[in-house]
Amino acid sequence: MDFTLTKEQRDIVMAAREFAEGEFPDRAMEFDREETFDLDLWKKACELGFVGVFIDEAYGGAGMGFFEHCLIAEEFWAVDPGIGQAILSATFGSELIGLFGTEEQKKLVLPQLVSGQAMMGTAITEPDAGCDVTSAITTAVKDNDKWIINGSKMFTTNGNIAKYVLVFCLTNPDAPSRHKRHSFILVPTDTPGYESTKIRGKLGVRASDTAELSLNNVQVPINNLVGKEGEGFYELMAFFNRTRPHVCAQAVGLARAALDESIKYTKKRKQFGAHLSSFQVTQFKIAEMATMIRAARNLYYEAAWSLDNGHIDHALIAMAKWYCGETAVKCANEALQLHGGYGYIDEYRVQRLYRDAKILEIYEGSKEMEKTIVSRAILR
Ligand SMILES: Cc1cc2nc3c(=O)[nH]c(=O)nc-3n(C[C@H](O)[C@H](O)[C@H](O)COP(=O)(O)OP(=O)(O)OC[C@H]3O[C@@H](n4cnc5c(N)ncnc54)[C@H](O)[C@@H]3O)c2cc1C
Repeated sequence: MDFTLTKEQRDIVMAAREFAEGEFPDRAMEFDREETFDLDLWKKACELGFVGVFIDEAYGGAGMGFFEHCLIAEEFWAVDPGIGQAILSATFGSELIGLFGTEEQKKLVLPQLVSGQAMMGTAITEPDAGCDVTSAITTAVKDNDKWIINGSKMFTTNGNIAKYVLVFCLTNPDAPSRHKRHSFILVPTDTPGYESTKIRGKLGVRASDTAELSLNNVQVPINNLVGKEGEGFYELMAFFNRTRPHVCAQAVGLARAALDESIKYTKKRKQFGAHLSSFQVTQFKIAEMATMIRAARNLYYEAAWSLDNGHIDHALIAMAKWYCGETAVKCANEALQLHGGYGYIDEYRVQRLYRDAKILEIYEGSKEMEKTIVSRAILR
């Protein structure tokens, strides 16, 4: 298997790196401290063609693969995870629309996401339904030509700023199988009854918007159902197979940044009359980080490449997801350790990387859930 990047892919990487290095560093600390973001930066990224590259050309995208989307994510996160997340999560849910949406839904939503006219989000998690998505109780009830939605959602990325949110709803509560009870419904966020509250005080990715949603008698047309009624769980699994490689790429970008900071710092800092980089214990940390990053990247390259080539390997994607997440957390932890007390202060970038890393083991499938998927595939 040859994972050498094509000329076009190398150009994408260089362009993404150049954009991120030019635009992110000056704003990163402010966005992190203030828990804010400048939407003009997302619009600029859209104008330059970095957002939604996997979306079909027919809907304004570049018609590339998820692999290219991952390459961009790795570069953005290698410069600043919070800003990377704020920009590239703007299409979170478009994968579902691309897979299961009607022609009308695709034409309505996808071009707006690529051109920077709209962001979207996907609301699955609820106060009492996290890893166990089938316990979601936000209801959608049919009333003639409308769905009436009631319930609450937690941790919805972009919930305060998105124009559309795909809501995972309980539509068939009496279905014998708990995997046949839910459906996705597209909700324009200006619909009466849609209320969002910004969640403040996050540990990391603080430039990215996160919301708690309250849905009170939200009425949307019956044809806002995305996919098939009662098939939401299976559609969600198909969606995650497409979005998890993206999280892996985020993790590898962050781990790379942690390694780069470690190399720079330990080559400069002296103790006991020698550079930290001259101590074998430091060298081993650097060697372990570099090896884990290489292994993590190979895993996500294979997962994303297989996906783009029509082979969905559920277990491989899960392996990549937990391993890349753990790699990011481990590398950020070692990087901070190598910075000693300075790493503990927010003036040094490793502190932010350390905080930003943790989410990679939690969202879009916690590492425990990913290991469950892997072990089930092996032991069945
Ligand atoms: C910044 C941020 C952004 C997010 N964005 C979104 C979004 O856009 N849309 C959305 O729907 N959600 C989003 N989430 C929610 C995220 O996906 C959930 O937090 C995650 O799925 C875990 O759910 P939970 O927090 O309820 O934890 P729980 O499900 O309560 O799990 C808590 C812990 O128990 C473990 N655990 C649970 N069940 C088992 C088991 N059977 N075996 C072993 N261990 C288990 C978990 O792995 C975890 O470590 C976001 C969260 C954050 C923090």
